Amino acid sequence: TERTLSIIKPDATRRNLTGKINARFEEAGLRFVAQKRIRLTKEQAEQFYSVHSERSFFGELVAFMISGPVVVQVLEGDNAVARNREIMGATNPANAAPGTIRADFAESVEANSVHGSDSAENAAIEIAYFFAGTELV
Ligand code: ATP
Ligand code: MG
Repeated sequence: TERTLSIIKPDATRRNLTGKINARFEEAGLRFVAQKRIRLTKEQAEQFYSVHSERSFFGELVAFMISGPVVVQVLEGDNAVARNREIMGATNPANAAPGTIRADFAESVEANSVHGSDSAENAAIEIAYFFAGTELV
């Protein structure tokens, strides 16, 4: 079993899609082991996406991520990192497979409704960024 960090992004919380998105993960066999609705600070969003700091879209991405509340969550299950990314679909909803969260809900390549860790190593870092050990049961 494995854990991954998922974020429901501001475009999705604004459209009241948290429950519909969470159902996709649960129906696919992933389990929520922690979840909270927060508003990222600019500094948190910049640090979280610092790998993209040289990209042309970085400023807009940070502005988008702080434009409304997000739901940060830890998902657990077999191959959770890869499973979560399958359920999300491709970054750009135009390329996302039918039935994936991004194909069905994303507004654009930026406002693409969900984040998921891209490796087990990054999952551990991202989970520790948002959750204390005592919040993970
Ligand atoms: P995430 O890291 O959010 O799970 P991802 O791993 O599919 O998404 P990344 O390449 O890590 O995609 O990009 C991080 C985020 O930056 C994307 O989810 C999207 O919100 C935004 N983004 C990526 N490419 C673009 C782009 N060309 N224009 C605008 N925003 C983009
Ligand atoms: Mg990524």
